Amino acid sequence: MNIATQAVQIGLEWDTRTGAVTVPVYQTATFRHPGLGQSTGYDYSRSCNPTRQALEDGIARLDGAARGFAYSSGMAAITNLLMLFTSGDHLIVTEDLYGGTCRLFDKIFTQYGLTFTYVDTCDIAAVTAAIQPSTKGVFVETLTNPLLKFTDLTAVSAICKANNLLLIADNTFLTPYLLRPLDLGADIAVYSATKYLAGHNDTVSGLVTVKDPQLAEKVYFHQNSVGAVLGPQDSWLTIRGIKTLGIRMDRQQENAGLIAEWLAAHPRITKVYYPGLDSHPDHDLMKRQSRGFCAMISFEVDKHELVEQILLKTNLISFAESLGGVESLMTFPEVQTHADIPPELRARLGINNVLLRLSVGIEDCDDLIEDLRQALEG
Ligand SMILES: *Cc1c(COP(=O)(O)O)cnc(C)c1O
Repeated sequence: MNIATQAVQIGLEWDTRTGAVTVPVYQTATFRHPGLGQSTGYDYSRSCNPTRQALEDGIARLDGAARGFAYSSGMAAITNLLMLFTSGDHLIVTEDLYGGTCRLFDKIFTQYGLTFTYVDTCDIAAVTAAIQPSTKGVFVETLTNPLLKFTDLTAVSAICKANNLLLIADNTFLTPYLLRPLDLGADIAVYSATKYLAGHNDTVSGLVTVKDPQLAEKVYFHQNSVGAVLGPQDSWLTIRGIKTLGIRMDRQQENAGLIAEWLAAHPRITKVYYPGLDSHPDHDLMKRQSRGFCAMISFEVDKHELVEQILLKTNLISFAESLGGVESLMTFPEVQTHADIPPELRARLGINNVLLRLSVGIEDCDDLIEDLRQALEG
């Protein structure tokens, strides 16, 4: 069954008593026991809540996983996964990483004895070269941010299998609708569902899918022990968002393709990063592994002064962090989302003072282009 169809089905048959089409929000902390030593299957909402479970089962189905898990944010989800490792373990990580993840690894987990090597995971030889005797895992972003580099998951997973390393893929940008990391050999996929999955800029949430049932049991133990679970209301919002994932992503990608071409032709735009463009270095690889290119575009303007002009003069496109939702948003990575990346690394990656990042929403494409035009030329 197509992912778009599966997404609509989430929670549909949950309430057999009333036949409610959407899963109810089980806003309860605890559940009555039918008798001594008996349980309805629900005891306490940190351990299991029916609304959250509908979401967890749903994302597991979309990703072809043994189990899914929902957390209070994408960062909470990643934190839980890092707890699979112990002091002394080394991880290889995509260098062009989400700023918050970089901060979590460098400022928090190094305190607990984990070490990290940042490499360009598009360069397969560099991944192999970074393996040390203590290496236990590889953490990649399938499509990176803000430079939109695509990691060859099939190739990285072959290295991981050969060296007994756990492969975790942050698939926030592509979602199961475009790419299913577990099908390409990842052990675990992780999502900031705040972005494309929930898709309405109205909730912060994180999701994890795990391929192997035994490993999933371990992840569940951590989820329940640490307790950074997603609440019932946010689980419901995330389900509601996921139901329209297919049409949103289709529309957003269509808009992004046209906007990327328009930007590329504009005299004041000096560089456009969008993997849907033929000129993007990962275009062909991505075409083979992914069903689409998502709707994130980064671009460089010819003068730093233009950055502020565009951010302040766009009317439809909001100057705000986050991405993937129905509303188009634009940000300035150097100062906003990627301030926690060390300056030398930022410079090497190309995150500079003329780079803007645009998350294309579902608005009418001509309106978006007109908004950009008047801001650029205004
Ligand atoms: C936003 C984001 C995160 C963090 O998720 P939150 O829901 O904001 O905690 C992690 N990875 C990527 C790629 C992201 O874009």
